[in-house]
Amino acid sequence: MQTPKSELLPFNEAQEQIFQQITPTTETESVAVKQALGRTLGEEIISPINVPAYNNSAMDGYALQGDDLPENGSITLEVIGSSFAGTPFEGSLQSGQSIRIMTGAKIPEGADTVIMQEKATREENQVTFSSEDNHRAGENVRMAGEDMREGEAVLQPGKTLGAAELGMIASLGYGAVTLKKRIKVAFFSTGDELCSAGETLGDGQIYDSNRYAIFGMLSALDVELIDLGIIRDQRELIEQAFKDAAAQADVVITSGGVSVGEADFVKETLDRVGEVNFWRIAMKPGKPLAFGKVDNAWFFGLPGNPVSAMVTFLQFVRPAINHLAGRERVTPFRIPLRCSNTLKKRPGRLEFQRGIMQQNEKGETVVRGAGHQGSHILRSMSIADCFIVLSPENSGVKAGDWVEVEPFPHNS
Ligand code: AMP
Ligand code: MG
Repeated sequence: MQTPKSELLPFNEAQEQIFQQITPTTETESVAVKQALGRTLGEEIISPINVPAYNNSAMDGYALQGDDLPENGSITLEVIGSSFAGTPFEGSLQSGQSIRIMTGAKIPEGADTVIMQEKATREENQVTFSSEDNHRAGENVRMAGEDMREGEAVLQPGKTLGAAELGMIASLGYGAVTLKKRIKVAFFSTGDELCSAGETLGDGQIYDSNRYAIFGMLSALDVELIDLGIIRDQRELIEQAFKDAAAQADVVITSGGVSVGEADFVKETLDRVGEVNFWRIAMKPGKPLAFGKVDNAWFFGLPGNPVSAMVTFLQFVRPAINHLAGRERVTPFRIPLRCSNTLKKRPGRLEFQRGIMQQNEKGETVVRGAGHQGSHILRSMSIADCFIVLSPENSGVKAGDWVEVEPFPHNS
């Protein structure tokens, strides 16, 4: 299936078609909390306890009854004990009494206020507070359940677990957590011109770089990787590679061999063994993209040019894999910034130019183009830290114009 030559598929339509076809996985597994970093939550986390578990002090100081605080002058209270983190005061406070208390220590019954030690004058077993310090009843107390309340749903399935989430889950006392099963992704490169890194380059050959860039981008996702290497341009080898990949993986990714008119066996093979659309997308770089199914696996055929392969991966494959993995959908974060130089652009296609964010002499954050924008200039991806996203209608950017900037994900 091929889009007619004259028609380019709008970028958003391609993205939506992919999203609509892919249904998220429902398979889950239980994993120790420390093993869950970077993975996708498979259950709703309901807090079985209050966090904090009890009212506790936010300061080192003295706990007392707020009603004892004077409006004028000062008050002296008796110090009847102490409460340390882990060693609470046993007993309750009456009016006229206070206890020494440390940060995180339990507030004893009868007390509701903590005065910081810098505002207290201690003499033997007495402590004095002045109204001039404007104390408020109830101050410096962290309430039980203020962070997470018992019975409250605190994390939803689909959430990516980062450092904060591991801490949250641990603070609820969980030793293990239910995650979405990892998606398996197989990838390989095709082409007789390709040579593996570490081998000697023959005449007319190039090193296979896409497989490494794709490996790098996949490594940031919650996936299991299967690197199938380079497959030579031979009918049987390619057919076998697709079948092997689809048998082992949920997603198969290749690069190269998807441009219209290209004389190779990738398309021919896919027409036989899969249900694949060969799209021409109204975007630059990355016009050709193949998407569909090979047996039961989802298939993405990325363009061969290294920048095109990365851009199409980041714009289509990454969100699609996250969707398949059951992650919540996130709209890419785009910031309007002034562009500090001119950018060439012809109307017609959505462009992802590589940009560098920086501060100008006035301290304002601006963006500039990262130089040569050719789809074979992989270095532009390295020196850039963002895409400058230019609409299909845009016919060029003058210095000082506002543009939309999409920061790269952290490992790209
Ligand atoms: P294709 O999409 O196969 O027409 O390839 C477009 C360009 O990308 C050609 O210059 C190819 O040599 C190059 N290319 C294809 N595959 C790779 C790869 N795995 N690594 C680096 N360059 C590639
Ligand atoms: Mg090729």
